[in-house]
Amino acid sequence: MIRRRAYYTLTHVAADYYNLLGVERSANEEEIKRAFRKAAHKHHPDKQGGDAAKFKEINEAYQVLSNQEKRAQHDQCGRTFDGPGGPAAGGPGAGGYPFGAGSAGFSTEDLGDIFGDLFGFNRRGRTRVRQRGDDIQLILRLDFNDAAFGGTKEIELTRLTACESCAGTGDKNKAPKKCSTCDGLGKVREVRQTILGTIAQERLCQECQGDGKVASHPCMECSSQGRVRTTERLGVEVPAGIDNDQIIKLSGQGDVGRRATPAGDLLLTIRVTPSDTFVRDGADVKTHIDLEYPQLVLGDEIDIQGLQGELSLSIQSGTQPGSIVRLRGEGIPILNGNGRGDLFVEVGQVTPKKVSKEERELLEKLAHLRGQNLTRKKRRLFSK
Ligand SMILES: [Zn+2]
Ligand SMILES: [Zn+2]
Repeated sequence: MIRRRAYYTLTHVAADYYNLLGVERSANEEEIKRAFRKAAHKHHPDKQGGDAAKFKEINEAYQVLSNQEKRAQHDQCGRTFDGPGGPAAGGPGAGGYPFGAGSAGFSTEDLGDIFGDLFGFNRRGRTRVRQRGDDIQLILRLDFNDAAFGGTKEIELTRLTACESCAGTGDKNKAPKKCSTCDGLGKVREVRQTILGTIAQERLCQECQGDGKVASHPCMECSSQGRVRTTERLGVEVPAGIDNDQIIKLSGQGDVGRRATPAGDLLLTIRVTPSDTFVRDGADVKTHIDLEYPQLVLGDEIDIQGLQGELSLSIQSGTQPGSIVRLRGEGIPILNGNGRGDLFVEVGQVTPKKVSKEERELLEKLAHLRGQNLTRKKRRLFSK
């Protein structure tokens, strides 16, 4: 019914991070930092000629290349994404890769960090570095009618949830102590002289990884991460009229963050199973029926299959094969709106392959009455 989708299938592959920063692949930490500062200064969005998109990309490149582990990943397989402890942590067997806001889904928090990093202030005035859990992206497959009329859909979801043993604190006694390295701030500040002048930098505290707290009695259930992988069933409200490629976003239903920091979101991309009977175009629906010659000639009242049971359809006398009858308001409910689309019925003609003797006589008589001289077996007639 559902399957996880690895993030890299959804985004374009970014330009090589080394190219972005304009450094050699062999560049050392110092060279990367220097190239980043130069590039970030040049493209800073507050500056004239600045370029926010470029700035973002550069930041992203720096986030990866300045981190040994991420850089190694990038060198191996291109653009990286942040899973809990890297992509290897969950693995496809454990339900696939969650992905983080840290890479392609760049968050404003990262920007805040970088502004602070570059210009010596913390834009958001945060006192703690709190990292949010990862978003989870899934495909939600819906039957034609479920998508059309909505309802509750149950899905099975594997995600990181707060560890019950330690209440998400990572500490067996549920009482982590204040980190002495950063004095509970989650970050450390350093002031340095550089070619750009005095730069005050704020860095994530390595000791507590930004939590501001450290576990004095690490929880064994969750390796002191404060979260564990669980599989559960979840009811999802599907709005009527949803269609392919639309996304249902469930805020806070993604992976919980490390040590009970807020959870990411759950993003469900809709895939609608096509119907054998109906073809959808937004809120409008097309269907097809075949009628016999007398019905088309004389007209008829017939029942056809609608989206919700039978509908009566009036066939006018003299209806041509291929004509379309419109049934207003018999289509799909308009997503987040009022009313419904229309049902378009294309009328075809079916020709009997065998007829009885009596039918043959009547048809021949009919042809005669209409001035037609049927010359069967004489193929010459058709070749002229
Ligand atoms: Zn725990
Ligand atoms: Zn700390």
